Amino acid sequence: MSEMKTAVVAIGGNALIEPGKRVTYENQMRRIRGTSEQLVDLIQIGYDIVLTHGNGPQIGSILLQNELTRDEAPEMPLHALVGESQGLLGYMLQQSLSNELARRGIEKIAVSILTQVLVDEKDPAFVKPVKPVGKFYNQEQAKRLAVEMGWVFGYEKDEDAYRRLVPSPQPLKIIESKAIRRFIFGGEQQIELIIACGGGGIPVIRRGDRYIGVDAVVDKDLAACVLATDIKEKLLIMLTDVDYAYIDYGTERQRAIRNADVDEAERYLKDGHFGEGSMAPKILAALRFLQLGGERAIITSLSKLKDAVLKAEGTHITRVKNE
Ligand code: ADP
Ligand code: MG
Repeated sequence: MSEMKTAVVAIGGNALIEPGKRVTYENQMRRIRGTSEQLVDLIQIGYDIVLTHGNGPQIGSILLQNELTRDEAPEMPLHALVGESQGLLGYMLQQSLSNELARRGIEKIAVSILTQVLVDEKDPAFVKPVKPVGKFYNQEQAKRLAVEMGWVFGYEKDEDAYRRLVPSPQPLKIIESKAIRRFIFGGEQQIELIIACGGGGIPVIRRGDRYIGVDAVVDKDLAACVLATDIKEKLLIMLTDVDYAYIDYGTERQRAIRNADVDEAERYLKDGHFGEGSMAPKILAALRFLQLGGERAIITSLSKLKDAVLKAEGTHITRVKNE
């Protein structure tokens, strides 16, 4: 059998909707078509990928729809809405990727898998929710919803309004990883391009011998790291809206990181070079992946994807340098 190259590829919000655009079906589909072309470029040069994706703008929209029609149609819990967003984006990605594969005569078909991610109900994140989601409310509404729904609210100064805060616990395990693994290492016979773990996965906790959904959101880069680890993948590629992770980002001294080993990346992280909630989780995901058996993590943009694997463009993080 010829050498199979495989990777877990995580795409961010900007791969799914053009920044600033309304989250309409057409706007998303247009963006996803472009994204599909770039991803299929990677497949065409011989990579089998498992694709994971964010869901920020989409879950925001779905939450709003739920909140605004609460009195007309029963509201669904957040974990169920994450499931909805996986279905919605999975559908769009699946159709668009399959169309692009067919257009190029590649005998593959995109298939999405609804994915649950295990979190610990004792995770400190549950005591201190930090992630703002959904609609803005005034103080009176926030107070009422806190009682009625048991929600926690945070005040947002810029808007002079309150927004629901949800926990963002650490992902521990991907429930469906064994099934996903069978697909990615299917070898030459494999025709499936798997989409999994959308929006960081549907957060579940274990109660006795059962899983149940919990209202939380899992960071998609950390979830991608756990997915890659669980399926014993060696390469994790995180695609975002910058070509590199930088040190001294946004200053005159800004410098692209082309190569870093674990120690270096850890030092940059500790020295505060990476934005909280944006680049820092990607670096953390890369570090954790490498510590748990991964060989290479790449952070770059969609447009540099092909050159990232062919010409070492983008930021490459490895256990030891130039591995
Ligand atoms: P995604 O949806 O892909 O996860 P994020 O906005 O969460 O996108 O993360 C990418 C953003 O991280 C970039 O647009 C950039 O503004 C920000 N960022 C923060 N620190 C850095 C850094 N040191 N190097 C590069 N980008 C950084
Ligand atoms: Mg992000």
